[in-house]
Amino acid sequence: MSHAPHARPDCIFCQIAAGRAPAARIAESAHALAFMDLFPAAEGHALVIPKRHYENLFEADVETLPDVHLLARRVALAMRRALSLEGLMVFQLNGAAAGQTVFHYHAHLLPRSGGSPLTIHGRQKADPAKLAELAARIAAALDDA
Ligand code: 5GP
Ligand code: ZN
Repeated sequence: MSHAPHARPDCIFCQIAAGRAPAARIAESAHALAFMDLFPAAEGHALVIPKRHYENLFEADVETLPDVHLLARRVALAMRRALSLEGLMVFQLNGAAAGQTVFHYHAHLLPRSGGSPLTIHGRQKADPAKLAELAARIAAALDDA
């Protein structure tokens, strides 16, 4: 099987970027892809990844990194429109010691509401149909920008 030059065959996010593993996709840009987190820490928890593989901020490809965060903003704006967002936490983890569990760079978009605990990882796998429904709602609220 052929792979994009930077793809790692054993990386789940490379597989999602290549369409070889399922995900509730929200949006994409030239170099980035947004989809729902499979183990959401809150309803609406989304991830934005570069399509090419790099592990963390230290290894990041500076050509595509801005695209990841511009897509994150575009999706954040759509989430604000589509979900009744009170607040949104954007974060990304670098290294196992920081709690990183998937070693392909990603920004988390995590809805927060007043007083909700600062939980960054969910424990339960979400219903894929529910994630698809959320992704479609957010996608429908995307701006062109
Ligand atoms: P990290 O801990 O590396 O910052 O975050 C990894 C995130 O990826 C976690 O929030 C986890 O729930 C999510 N995740 C892990 N495996 C999958 C998967 O196969 N599909 C999706 N959509 N999310 C995943
Ligand atoms: Zn990867």
